[in-house]
Amino acid sequence: MADNNVVFAGQVSQPAIGQGTWYMGENARLRQKEVDALRAGIDLGLTLIDTAEMYADGGAEEVVGEALQGGLRDKVFLVSKVYPWNAGGKKAIAACEASLRRLKTEVLDLYLLHWRGNYSLAETVEVMETLIAQGKIRRWGVSNLDYSDMQELIRVRGGDACATNQVLYHLGSRGIEYDLLPWCQQQAIPVMAYCPLAQAGRLRDGLLENSAVREIAAAHNVSAAQILLAWVISHQGVIAIPKASSVAHVQENAEALNITLSSEELVLLDNAFPAPGRKTPLDVV
Ligand code: NDP
Repeated sequence: MADNNVVFAGQVSQPAIGQGTWYMGENARLRQKEVDALRAGIDLGLTLIDTAEMYADGGAEEVVGEALQGGLRDKVFLVSKVYPWNAGGKKAIAACEASLRRLKTEVLDLYLLHWRGNYSLAETVEVMETLIAQGKIRRWGVSNLDYSDMQELIRVRGGDACATNQVLYHLGSRGIEYDLLPWCQQQAIPVMAYCPLAQAGRLRDGLLENSAVREIAAAHNVSAAQILLAWVISHQGVIAIPKASSVAHVQENAEALNITLSSEELVLLDNAFPAPGRKTPLDVV
């Protein structure tokens, strides 16, 4: 069983469940509910918040910015992401400044390349270092980079400072366990698991209804979604970032930090959803 914290860049420890924000900020009528959900999550210890300039075209960052008003900014480990086509030179500086404005903060704790694009990894690392020197970000990382991309990144000058790789990971999609996850664990690079609930099962038919998942959920007197989160964070160095736009869901997700799956339960889940025994391309949404 993994301990329930992940450590970024050997410096900052965070609980192994945080909060995602994709699809927040798209509907003004839901804004207060989303703000309330994020604040409830912070209160319950889900202090890592993940957002991106992409989400609702900056709207999700604005929701997060509002949620952090009233003295909450310093309680949070704030993560945002830059589009690949903004991830170099002056464009990256401008994109980061725009994110900071929407988030109503001076500095990001972690800034990620959202996925690989036309800028070379060397150019992106260089501009990330500039942003650190300017005090706009504290550290940087990447998202959606497969094993071979990570090998390339680590060889770029300064590339070994990468503080995370954020990738798709849930019980129904275990490809990273073949190579990427063990390598990140060995390098002490935390993996941020996105879509840990497979988007409430939408990415994998039958995941939440699976009999093994249901049986284990019943034994713990929790929901199937909570078992999916407990499974993700049972892996060392992995933080799950479920998105929840209701306080009830946030409460459930926070409670999942306290669920420990037994080795028998992990075997049941392995049998129902085996990890691939060969290399598969990185799953993305
Ligand atoms: P998730 O797997 O987190 O699923 C979100 C869905 O699950 C929502 O419909 C939500 O409903 C529902 N949900 C949340 N909690 C519960 C619960 N306890 N019980 C039942 N349903 C629940 O998918 P996401 O795509 O949102 O991924 C998580 C985060 O990862 C994103 O929000 C984003 O921050 C990040 N991400 C990053 C990507 C990248 O390329 N780097 C790609 C995709 C995601 P409701 O909102 O009604 O609470």
